[in-house]
Amino acid sequence: MSKVLIIGAGGVGGVVTHKCAQAKDTFSHITLASRTLSKCEAIKKQVKELRNVDIEVAQVDADNVAETVALIKKVNPKVVINVALPYQDLPIMDACLEAGVDYLDTANYEPRDEAKFEYKWQWAYQDRYKDANLMALMGSGFDPGVTNIFCAYAQKHHFDDIHEIDIVDCNAGDHGKAFATNFNPEINLREVSANGRYWRDGEWIETKPLEISEVFDFPEVGERKAYLLYHEELESLVQNIKGLKQIRFWMTFGDAYIKHMEVLENVGMMRIDPVDYKGQKVIPMEFLKCLLPDPGSLAENYTGKTSIGCIVKGVKDGKPKKIFVYNVCDHAECYKEVRSQAVSYTTGVPAMIGAKMIVEGKWRQEGVAHMEQQDPDPFLDDLAKFGLPWHVKELPVD
Ligand code: NDP
Repeated sequence: MSKVLIIGAGGVGGVVTHKCAQAKDTFSHITLASRTLSKCEAIKKQVKELRNVDIEVAQVDADNVAETVALIKKVNPKVVINVALPYQDLPIMDACLEAGVDYLDTANYEPRDEAKFEYKWQWAYQDRYKDANLMALMGSGFDPGVTNIFCAYAQKHHFDDIHEIDIVDCNAGDHGKAFATNFNPEINLREVSANGRYWRDGEWIETKPLEISEVFDFPEVGERKAYLLYHEELESLVQNIKGLKQIRFWMTFGDAYIKHMEVLENVGMMRIDPVDYKGQKVIPMEFLKCLLPDPGSLAENYTGKTSIGCIVKGVKDGKPKKIFVYNVCDHAECYKEVRSQAVSYTTGVPAMIGAKMIVEGKWRQEGVAHMEQQDPDPFLDDLAKFGLPWHVKELPVD
């Protein structure tokens, strides 16, 4: 029985809180803290109504390390689940170090003033976390997160050598809005509009934004066009999956989404540098975020499914083999259960389970740890139990 502190009361934070409340045998005491207290209070009310579980709430500016350390010391949790924004990763890692508590997040650090994500800033904490006998678990969402675990599972149970991995992410849902993003708009648009990148034969190959596309047959959804993007899990998987020759990440977008994004980019609304407006400094991307629907607000009328997984090719017992490990998640079902849409749900469930693995002692790796370095089996057992059943399909080898 452990205490947990969740930081960030957005779409994902709501799901994590519900899921920790469903795992009461593990998390005896839940505190949800965020910049805006009213958002924590709204989730607290919902968790009481739907789960009959009481939680604590607190206000915190997680950019302020001293403030976060004081909160951690007051709550005294076994683990901090960071589901604020990637900008807060480093200050929250600093605070966990100072307070002596394990750390977990779902997205790697991004500097505010540069649209770039890389693990180098978080890998720099390796020795400090090791010396403090603490664990910092990187990327325990769906992708990164479950996708890393699917790769670890394929390596452990299905292959002697893995040669190729395609991570394929399809959201075939319909939220009825002309344009909206499924998670934080700023982070989402920065990711999609960046150059693509994939890894082949020991080197990174860079592509123009959305330059390469391919049609994949997504389970329970059917054929959809997906675009090659750079995604953070590629950076750790190339180091941790043995024998890998190629790894790529693909995501589907509808034509309307791409058209909106192109127009926003062309008119300068996706700029992240400050511009002068009537004597005030305005960052267009931050202003755009205020105009777009809050991702959490999409949940109520969302229909359709997400279908995300890993297509893994390699060799077993001297013979070529190809499998698809995947999960399908229904937006409307998520709303019924925790009042969220499937993108927040598929991120929040694994964030809770990563924390559960740490506090139950099933995973222990002091220092900065990646999901694929952990034992996939207990995680995958819980994944199915807590709402994300997963499947393995053998595919014909091409
Ligand atoms: P939201 O924007 O909905 O929520 C973010 C929350 O963090 C908000 O409540 C916000 O507060 C809070 N926050 C921001 N800055 C601070 C701060 N300085 N101190 C305290 N709280 C702060 O985002 P999501 O819930 O959609 O996403 C959460 C995280 O999950 C992101 O890092 C995102 O990249 C990641 N993610 C990962 C995925 C995966 O599969 N691995 C998929 C989807 C998301 P306020 O309300 O005041 O703005």
